[in-house]
Amino acid sequence: MKEIRTRIAPAPTGYFHLGVARTALFNFLFARKNKGKFILRIDDTDKERSKKEYEIDILKSLAWLGLFWDEGPILKSAENNFLTQKHLNFGKEYVGDFGPYRQSERIGIYKKYLQKLIDKDLAYFCFCKKEDLEAQKQAMIAAGQVPKYPGICRNIPKQEAFRRAEKEPFVIRLKVPSKKIRFVDLLRGKIEFDLDLIGDFVISKGFDEPLYNFTTVVDDYEMRISHIIRGEDHISNTPKQIILQEALEFPRPKYLHLPLILGEDKSKLSKRHGAISIRELKELGYLPEAIVNYLALLGWWPKEDVEIFSLKELIELFDISQLQKHPAIFSFKKLDWLNRVYIRRLSVEKLASLCQKYLGEDVDFDYLKKVVSLFQERLSKISEIKELASYFFEEPEYPKELLLWKDQDFSQAKEILKEIKEVFLKKELSEFNKEKILENLKPLAEKYGNGPVFWPLRVALSGKEASPPPQEIAEILGKEETIRRIEKAIEKT
Ligand code: GLU
Repeated sequence: MKEIRTRIAPAPTGYFHLGVARTALFNFLFARKNKGKFILRIDDTDKERSKKEYEIDILKSLAWLGLFWDEGPILKSAENNFLTQKHLNFGKEYVGDFGPYRQSERIGIYKKYLQKLIDKDLAYFCFCKKEDLEAQKQAMIAAGQVPKYPGICRNIPKQEAFRRAEKEPFVIRLKVPSKKIRFVDLLRGKIEFDLDLIGDFVISKGFDEPLYNFTTVVDDYEMRISHIIRGEDHISNTPKQIILQEALEFPRPKYLHLPLILGEDKSKLSKRHGAISIRELKELGYLPEAIVNYLALLGWWPKEDVEIFSLKELIELFDISQLQKHPAIFSFKKLDWLNRVYIRRLSVEKLASLCQKYLGEDVDFDYLKKVVSLFQERLSKISEIKELASYFFEEPEYPKELLLWKDQDFSQAKEILKEIKEVFLKKELSEFNKEKILENLKPLAEKYGNGPVFWPLRVALSGKEASPPPQEIAEILGKEETIRRIEKAIEKT
């Protein structure tokens, strides 16, 4: 059987976002499952909008998600600390035998194929002016016709076209035959498209600025891509690409168009729906395992009713026959739920190291471990630790009224806080841990009730209405700091 080779070809015109990440994941899974190759190609033909910064972001995001590509550009130098040995191939630009893997570096290759189409009379130079084309388009729309290029330059004799091309700016158009294109989408079945609807489309501006459909067809062929798995928004490009393959006598790859990803309001997923780039999700403290797991469920559903999968399990289970046709709805609620599941599975060491970014790199690591372990069950995303655990790193600010339990008055709260302080100063509490603290506060709780004792203590220590039990906070803060905060609270009341 022919080797399975899949690819993604993101344009480096923005930060790597969820939609491309999902396409990458399915391409990756399909290649891995079939012992094939997953290729990364950078579609940077749009010189104005393409930026190196975005390309680096694509590579970093893929690597962070664990979606390592077998062929494609590599990151150089210090950017590399999370890449595998293969990608750490310093000094080399790419891994793989079909490079360059950046379209901007393949212009010579595209020229060769453009020339071939011109020589074979399958493409031609078009000198029409933008304004004229626009006027024709409007006239066609007004006449109730499908607007398309009317073929004005199609019949310019070749000699004349060549002569004019030396002086005038031109584009290259493909001669689109009048026929129907049929192709099979592995998810949707047979699709038929009437080429009469599109007219001769532009494949390159001059010889030096080839356009998406053309470069894609050339690269997919040159890079031996067997399966093209991409978003449904590209379905309308597929007939154009097929007609180009036919003109160039390339074999046809197999196609699969993934369902769209919509926001919960059913509109196309965009910035409006919140942080959608992988770097932003990372910044918010989503774990790569949770994102990958979540992305898999955006359009794919396994046979068994299971929702938690590692990348390894996904490779094993993935089957394109279980892909869904209807749009996938992106929901932060579900992503948060999955993230919670994965946060709970982290070792305390790992959790603490992830929290460092939000709490300060210079905090004592053992102290950090104690603090974060209190919150492991509560975190939906790592960044929440900053707000939740703030009082472990700075004195809490709170209005004094917060110290009062229900209808407690200041004098009772003050009295109780004083008594708590006395208890904490006792010799028996030299071992200041949560069990001992609780045991020693018991008589007070019996005298006044749990609320009137533990509430003011919680607020004195955390400044918050909701927190882990005060004895746990006290243990971590230590006796001295605990007493200091109680004294502060006594002063306030
Ligand atoms: N550069 C295109 C995109 O990012 C690639 C589409 C394709 O996979 O053919 O949408």
